[in-house]
Amino acid sequence: MKLYEFQGKALFRRFGIATPDGVLRRKGDVLTGDKACVLKAQTLSGGRGKAGAVVLCKTEAERNASLEKILSMTLKGEPVNAALEEERVEIEKEFYISIAFDGEAGVPLIIASASGGMDIEEVADKHPEKILKLPFDSIVGPLDYHLSRVAKFLGTPRAKELASLLRKLCLAYSGVNATLLEINPLAQTPDGFVALDSKAELDDDAERLHTEFFDALRKEQGEITGSVASAQHDTITYVPLDGDIGLISDGAGTGMLALDMIRDRGGRAADFCEMGGLTNPEIMYSALERVSASEKPLRSLLVVLIGGFNRMDEMAEGIVKFVSERAFTKIPLVVRLCGTMEEEGKKIMRDAGLSVYDDLDDAVGAAVAGEGR
Ligand code: ADP
Ligand code: MG
Repeated sequence: MKLYEFQGKALFRRFGIATPDGVLRRKGDVLTGDKACVLKAQTLSGGRGKAGAVVLCKTEAERNASLEKILSMTLKGEPVNAALEEERVEIEKEFYISIAFDGEAGVPLIIASASGGMDIEEVADKHPEKILKLPFDSIVGPLDYHLSRVAKFLGTPRAKELASLLRKLCLAYSGVNATLLEINPLAQTPDGFVALDSKAELDDDAERLHTEFFDALRKEQGEITGSVASAQHDTITYVPLDGDIGLISDGAGTGMLALDMIRDRGGRAADFCEMGGLTNPEIMYSALERVSASEKPLRSLLVVLIGGFNRMDEMAEGIVKFVSERAFTKIPLVVRLCGTMEEEGKKIMRDAGLSVYDDLDDAVGAAVAGEGR
């Protein structure tokens, strides 16, 4: 599960990591008084600064105008329904810090860079030497020399303070079974280190260890998106890949087949997302939500459904609902459905102005070519 910035920051505070004071603002809120603050769109995707969705404001008029502007935005296909209003922090320097899981080596890593506040993927691409990646033992945690090495690499004299922050971040990481906790930027301020941003992803398979926490997060997210996010998310398997074709299938076998077919045609999938067999419109909706929130721009989104147990009318309902609610018009959508209630499903799609493919090969071809409805 991906968390919003305000949720990630609440998690940081629980583990003793400082963040700016902030209040969540919604549509219809009226802000009173002058105050130097920062208004930040709450979306699950990043790059908000570049998109003009992080705004410094001061006067009452500016605060209200910026809130209205931010709440009218759509970022990477995601409508902005809430903004975090934070105190403005005096930044001396910005660092990048994260704890991430290295799936290949099977160990967590501390990742650090003095090029904070920037797009870290770009730094990794152009200046890999500016990024430090330190694996550590997930049970023992990072050792003192790991932590002093990070401080040295970042060139900060505040090694003790940084070590304490990293220990807290590691405790948070293992405490909630996170797969990623990122602070970009971590600001060095006259009062110490402050997490100015948060990106957090939790391991869905660990939900049973933290049911109350997951329920509370889901409830908060549901209040923001207006949809009842549900535990049905659990049946969705989502594995990010490095291509640009979003892929959703109803079962793993169909998904694997589609992955191979995409590759055969010279395309690359952006993810492997399957809905775990028996599904309903809500799960279809959640899967679309998840794949379209991808950090990278998508060339197309391919939905491959083979109805055995699944009813195609229900799947079509989920797709149509998502498309109509999420202004999901920019990414070409390619849907192939067949099997149970196929005709009914196709009718629902056509009535909503969406086309469907009969042939899997044609659908994959269209997705690779970036052609969709
Ligand atoms: P994103 O990563 O989505 O672009 P950030 O939360 O990292 O959004 O914000 C972008 C930039 O805005 C940060 O690099 C930082 O320079 C500035 N910023 C964010 N929050 C604050 C704050 N509370 N006080 C001062 N500057 C901030
Ligand atoms: Mg950031």
